[in-house]
Amino acid sequence: MLLHIGIDDTDSRKHGMCTTYIGAVLMRRLAKVGEVEEAKLVRLNPNIKYKTRGNAAIALAVRTKKVEEAKRITKQAVEEFAVLEDENTNPGIVFHEGELPEDFSRFYHRALHEVVGIDQAERLLRRHGAEYVKYKLGRGIVGALAAIGAELEQATYEYIAYRARERWGTRRNIDAASVLAMDALTFPLTFNNFDYGEGRVLIAPHTPCPVLFGIRGINAQVVEEAAKLVLPGEEIALSAVYKTNQGTDAHLEEVSRVAEVRPFSSVILTGEVASEPEIIRGGHVFFRLRDDHGEEITCAAYEPTRQFRGVVRALIPGDRVKVYGGVDESRTINLEKLEVLRLRRERLVNPQCKNCGRRMESAGRGKGYRCRRCRTRAEEKVRERLERNLQEKLYSVPPIAMRHLSKPPVLAL
Ligand SMILES: [Zn+2]
Repeated sequence: MLLHIGIDDTDSRKHGMCTTYIGAVLMRRLAKVGEVEEAKLVRLNPNIKYKTRGNAAIALAVRTKKVEEAKRITKQAVEEFAVLEDENTNPGIVFHEGELPEDFSRFYHRALHEVVGIDQAERLLRRHGAEYVKYKLGRGIVGALAAIGAELEQATYEYIAYRARERWGTRRNIDAASVLAMDALTFPLTFNNFDYGEGRVLIAPHTPCPVLFGIRGINAQVVEEAAKLVLPGEEIALSAVYKTNQGTDAHLEEVSRVAEVRPFSSVILTGEVASEPEIIRGGHVFFRLRDDHGEEITCAAYEPTRQFRGVVRALIPGDRVKVYGGVDESRTINLEKLEVLRLRRERLVNPQCKNCGRRMESAGRGKGYRCRRCRTRAEEKVRERLERNLQEKLYSVPPIAMRHLSKPPVLAL
């Protein structure tokens, strides 16, 4: 029998923990009652605020004859490690035996693009006779069910090393030079190891959670090999490799017009820059994008996106772009990527006086242009070439600001 196990919302921003750690512990424990055939780390809608950082759920598929025993082991591990004392932690476990209904896959896609309620998950689980466990509010059953339903046609892999329990909450001492060497050897088969613009190691979190470091890459072998090149500075107490939707852009949906942009979704939208980009206090950059139907929407590059803001600031009205990003409650698109499709290369300016070289003035509506000094005249504005500091290509926020789900431009999946 193939038993699918989904788990979510066990961690706490304040106290640490990580649902992937419970998954790793479970992989070891479940090996005693069966064979773990698949381990998935599934990121869900990144635009939902109440979620614990990153919004990651896990799902395991276990081939076992001892289904009840496997369920007992799972519940025990969640009860042992979930941070139940945090009011924002509301774990959920979902069990499903055998073939996965198509409904589950559809639910996964909804949980990526929409805000899905606990009741909706519960209704679906009851309809298919799946067993589930709710702790406190049990919000975790949403992610747990979505993780089980995730078919991951496009996937990357993450190797995660975990710390010995007595080190949780203490400083990590990963050798940065070894991370650079690993990156030099394995990038772009691995990705987001280091942010060269910021000079920052990205493989280790700065939270009190059990994760020591994680390496993302295009297959299981490469992330495991890359991990051996890292000098961790302490014992690796446990490790796991997950198949994941990270780095796949699974959260993005192409829409054809502004009217289709829903709050809390993540979209790809093509249009024309309709306003001069504006920098506001705090260093955020905003501009208006006009779609092919003449409808407009605000796009934003926030301060943490660092040098990416320079790309956005260099846009001018008339540039044709494709924007990628999450949508907030006020329907502002929070840019993750921007593809410059066509740069405006010219602008219309008043003609120059052939005699003195000065810019002519309007002679009045419909009367052309004239030089006030020389009395020379011209009929029309002239085209002036614009020097642009942008290229017609895809720009992305730097790795340090990249969302888990965002596909780095180097990644060919
Ligand atoms: Zn003149």
